[in-house]
Amino acid sequence: MSTSSSLRRTKIIFTLGPATQSEEMLEKLILAGVDVARLNMAHGNHEWTRAVIRRIRAVSKKVGREIAIMMDIKGPEIRTGDVEAPIELKIGETFDFTVKPGDREGGEEIRSVNVNYQDLVNDIHVGDIVLVDSGLMRFEVLAKNNNHIRCKVLTPGALSSRRHINLPGVKVNLPSFTEKDRLDTLLGIEEGIDFVALSFVREAKDIVQLREFLAANKSHAKIIAKIEDQTAIANLDEIIIATDSLMVARGDLGIECPLEDLPVIQRRAVKACFHYGKPVIIATHTLESMIGSPVPTRAEITDVANAVYEKADCVMLSGETTVGKYPLECVQVLDRIARRIEQEGPFEFAEPEHLTGDRIKLLHSAVLLAHQLPDSVLVTFTRHGTMAGGLAALRPALAPIHAMTNSVEVLRQMRILRGVEPYLLPLDSDPDHTISSAIFHLQKEGKVQVGDKLIIATDILAADRLVKSVQLRTVR
Ligand code: PEP
Repeated sequence: MSTSSSLRRTKIIFTLGPATQSEEMLEKLILAGVDVARLNMAHGNHEWTRAVIRRIRAVSKKVGREIAIMMDIKGPEIRTGDVEAPIELKIGETFDFTVKPGDREGGEEIRSVNVNYQDLVNDIHVGDIVLVDSGLMRFEVLAKNNNHIRCKVLTPGALSSRRHINLPGVKVNLPSFTEKDRLDTLLGIEEGIDFVALSFVREAKDIVQLREFLAANKSHAKIIAKIEDQTAIANLDEIIIATDSLMVARGDLGIECPLEDLPVIQRRAVKACFHYGKPVIIATHTLESMIGSPVPTRAEITDVANAVYEKADCVMLSGETTVGKYPLECVQVLDRIARRIEQEGPFEFAEPEHLTGDRIKLLHSAVLLAHQLPDSVLVTFTRHGTMAGGLAALRPALAPIHAMTNSVEVLRQMRILRGVEPYLLPLDSDPDHTISSAIFHLQKEGKVQVGDKLIIATDILAADRLVKSVQLRTVR
């Protein structure tokens, strides 16, 4: 009997913050099965970032389980300026957002706040909607000139300093990779981060630019494109083709797009990632109520289950683990839901339409064999993660994917791949020798037992040549 049921296929990402930054909590979370730690650069300064990266690495080493680190860079962002005290906005009130403070007609009667984006007055049109503070306050643009946009308050609230502004449907003329992003990424590269998540990706060009920056700075970090607005949705295919993986950033998407479109966008993004063979992350409000409560709502349970049914690679926690009261419980809840739903059918698999080439066809035959042999497990050897990525992209219905690599960086980057359990193992120049030590290792870890069927996708030595192969072996 295979022990494959011990593997959770869906990976868990948690965002690090005050609630989870201690060594003790990190140890608990890593042992509870988190796969990736996310650092949100909208908040952390460099001193903090450097310290927590080193702490994660140290605790991983101590625990004997290397997790990956994702640096989430802020990207273009529009914010209100400072106000002395919160401005209590009234419904129907006229209110100005100014780009050149001090030069307004309308006088003192019309209240205003500054905005950090000079081109606001050019990009926006009369009739457009302005959303402030995660969409809590809503304004309609009545008029504009070179200095300000004049709005009517549709949904009132208290406007405090440096609130985030969303402009649904407006193509914003801001650089995709800001000076702050550049400095943050350089720090991440220095500290050996595994993933860079680029916020507010709008087109493939944004990813190409980041890829060039990473290459120029000799980083092998993989790129996660965060789709957060309508432009990204319009350019979804080109973004997925250009990126290494995708994050459905539901926080901003839920503000930038009609809320009823959100599930449609999620489903479309997951399907598109499947077609192109790219990993996909479902983020934000996953267990939001658990920020203050030890149990999730029934709706949250069903939302997480939906992401698992959709076969997303990862689910992500944000506020739940940065400031929440129950970070460990959140991870345990995700783990329980994922394991339970993964036991449900239908156990079918399909070949992604856009994956072509001999290698993927070979991996497809391995997955097909695994599908026909109940309780079998897939094993692969991978120097760059490509073989493991290919197997994960094919979404084997039942067999876990045990992926052996000789690189700890590759091991960490495989943490986001659905169904992949990565191991560090020296890769011998004799492939047969490597296979024997992998089987020994898997047996020692209790992952396979005598009698289990292994489907091995790897290179074999034929005469003096390495030949790609799929082998069926039984553990003896
Ligand atoms: C989101 O908007 O869902 C998201 C993950 O981005 P951030 O938390 O950086 O706003």
